Amino acid sequence: MVAWQPIGISMGVYDMCARYLKERKQFGAPLAAFQINQQKLARMLGNIQAMTLVGWRLCKLYEEGKMTPGHASLGKSWITSRARETAALGRELLGGNGILADFLVAKAFCDLEPIYTYEGTYDINSLVTGREITGFASFKPASVSQRSRL
Ligand SMILES: Cc1cc2nc3c(=O)[nH]c(=O)nc-3n(C[C@H](O)[C@H](O)[C@H](O)COP(=O)(O)OP(=O)(O)OC[C@H]3O[C@@H](n4cnc5c(N)ncnc54)[C@H](O)[C@@H]3O)c2cc1C
Repeated sequence: MVAWQPIGISMGVYDMCARYLKERKQFGAPLAAFQINQQKLARMLGNIQAMTLVGWRLCKLYEEGKMTPGHASLGKSWITSRARETAALGRELLGGNGILADFLVAKAFCDLEPIYTYEGTYDINSLVTGREITGFASFKPASVSQRSRL
């Protein structure tokens, strides 16, 4: 569930930006007509599609009883990191309005930060996945583990 929250937020950011870029004009043209803005929109859309596929794959694994902690952690950490990038690109696209709550992107940006952290921070979820991939748990520095055994 936590892996899906950032997907919905990112879709909202994308919708807001796509609309805004067509409405606001600078240098005699809509912001949507500038190549660099189109590149950012395309990157946001690519993120959202990839995030959705990862979320869908997690659900299928869960339904089949095959989802491991490493799968869930990778899904959550990767999706939240892409959502963070998507919101950051949206914030850039809106210029100064990107930091005003009225235009929703700044609010989405703030809403994503707790999701990046709760149910395991990005770092801790990466370590859960890393443990599954390698067989080594690296949560505790070696010296602390050794001291706790004394
Ligand atoms: C809005 C919000 C709602 C929340 N809701 C709940 C809730 O309902 N129930 C609940 O139980 N908790 C909740 N939390 C708490 C959340 O789960 C914790 O904030 C989160 O697990 C991180 O723990 P911490 O804040 O103690 O950070 P710390 O453990 O102090 O970590 C600080 C930093 O160090 C890194 N770090 C810590 N340990 C390691 C390690 N071994 N190796 C590498 N890096 C490490 C972390 O990744 C992080 O970057 C919520 C938090 C927020 C922000």
